[in-house]
Amino acid sequence: MKKSDIIDILSEIAVLLELKGENPFKSRSYSNAARILESAPEDLTTLIQTEKLDTLKGIGESISKKIHEFAETGELAYYNELKSSFPQGLLEMLRIPNLGPKRVKVLFEKLGVKSIAELEYACHENRLLTLPGFGVKSQDNILKGIDFVKKSANQFLCSVAAEEAEILVAALRGSDQVRNASIAGSLRRRKEIVKDIDIVASSTSPERVMDLFCSHESVEEILEKGATKSNVRLRRGISVDLRIVPPESYPFLLHHLTGSKNHNIALRARAQKMGLKMSEWGLFGTDGKSLACADENEIFAALGLDEIPPELREDLGEIEAAEKHSLPSLLTEDQLAGIIHVHTAHSDGINTVEEMVTGAVQMGATYIGISDHSQSALYAGGLKEIALEKQWKEIDAVQKKLPQIRIFKGVESDILGDGNLDYPERILRKFDFIVASVHSRFNMGEEEMTKRVITAIENPHTTILGHPTGRLLLGREPFQINLEKILAAAARHGVAIELNANPQRLDLDWRHLKHAREMGIPISINPDAHSLTGLADTRYGVGIARKGWLTAADVLNTRDAGAFAAFCEKRRRAI
Ligand SMILES: [Zn+2]
Ligand SMILES: [Zn+2]
Repeated sequence: MKKSDIIDILSEIAVLLELKGENPFKSRSYSNAARILESAPEDLTTLIQTEKLDTLKGIGESISKKIHEFAETGELAYYNELKSSFPQGLLEMLRIPNLGPKRVKVLFEKLGVKSIAELEYACHENRLLTLPGFGVKSQDNILKGIDFVKKSANQFLCSVAAEEAEILVAALRGSDQVRNASIAGSLRRRKEIVKDIDIVASSTSPERVMDLFCSHESVEEILEKGATKSNVRLRRGISVDLRIVPPESYPFLLHHLTGSKNHNIALRARAQKMGLKMSEWGLFGTDGKSLACADENEIFAALGLDEIPPELREDLGEIEAAEKHSLPSLLTEDQLAGIIHVHTAHSDGINTVEEMVTGAVQMGATYIGISDHSQSALYAGGLKEIALEKQWKEIDAVQKKLPQIRIFKGVESDILGDGNLDYPERILRKFDFIVASVHSRFNMGEEEMTKRVITAIENPHTTILGHPTGRLLLGREPFQINLEKILAAAARHGVAIELNANPQRLDLDWRHLKHAREMGIPISINPDAHSLTGLADTRYGVGIARKGWLTAADVLNTRDAGAFAAFCEKRRRAI
């Protein structure tokens, strides 16, 4: 059983209890337990076997018992019961952005609304206006939120899909009936959102492999099962297609199912010009026989191309570049030297400075940039001057204890409504680096927001512009901003732009990265970690960076600690 499953369940119980109108302390004890589990570095099995679970502060006896039950049986009776006591549609309403359990409860009790469709209808009839705490504006926002939910139905964050797919592929590879197995589709191309998971495998006894796949513990429902093709739905709702072919067809099918469609069309046209015919089954000459290709590399070579990494297969110039041998040598995870933009328990993180720094050491980082929230970020426990001093003292102590890594003292400063940073000059100059981010007043018009952010970029204390569009994938649209002007300002002032690696953000979007790279703007790949597990999100950032054609030279935190410090210093000398 996975730790992430029980974390999801505990968080959901907290919401359900709130929906039920239970004592807020009870609900909070579940959300706290979820947070505590998240901050523990061990997996679920280890926590239980070492009995560490029962020593964790904040997880009481009754919740601990439930975690044991889930680990042993894969089910939690209390949760199932609680969940079934509400109409299913009510839970779906919670997916509407900015509609929490308290307001859903009011809508249910006062208007009898119990599904998204009923809610939409009630909005159109202006029935929400009669409720306390609701107005024209919130009604409009709910309608917008409903649109958003409709658009994002059956879509999944790449992190969720990757986690599930990797488990399945590992299970397939572990079978001696399987020669090759790989993720394909948009997940392999490292798209930020995926609709389903595609897996390709090769075997000479596909039936047995299909049995293994369909009986995997992650599978909830088998939608289709055949000798060479099956389709299942996992517990987490995502659907998975598995195709199994004989080994000689494997590279062709893997390439075909990796896509993208546009890339495949362009490649087929190229094959045709060369007198070849390309399909998912092979690359056929005029004699009708398929060329033997041991892997994808040989397919590309047969077409006169360098091997194109899956991330680039979008028909956005990669075929031309592969022909001219000018594909970039894409960034790899091991090239990152520093981990920047890390929160701690001083603001809204859950781990201490020492725990986060130790986590970074374990990941092989040579430096870390601590950046908690600034004073105006009340919702996130932003730090006042006196709290900053306390944090710096603690950082100094940790630095002494862990000399193998360099710790930079930074801050994630709110960009205030007028574009100013969130501390007076005399405090700003004390930070080693500053990530400047918008966390409030998202509803500004494009012109005002662009001006606001450019003002922050012009501030010589700003080292990195954080999550430049504020989007939350499958959760919140980006705010309105003219990115062209933002990139130009960053280039002009030597400010780095963040590629926020949190899988819900992945902001700056890969579609703009190539452009930022051409403008010479350093990109900083930051986990924006709020817990130990969050540090590992850098891998999703690297995936997106690759998709945006970035090489190690384009990325700020591939530089060593000295070069990073010099970058921050140079920026500040503009004062
Ligand atoms: Zn932020
Ligand atoms: Zn942050």
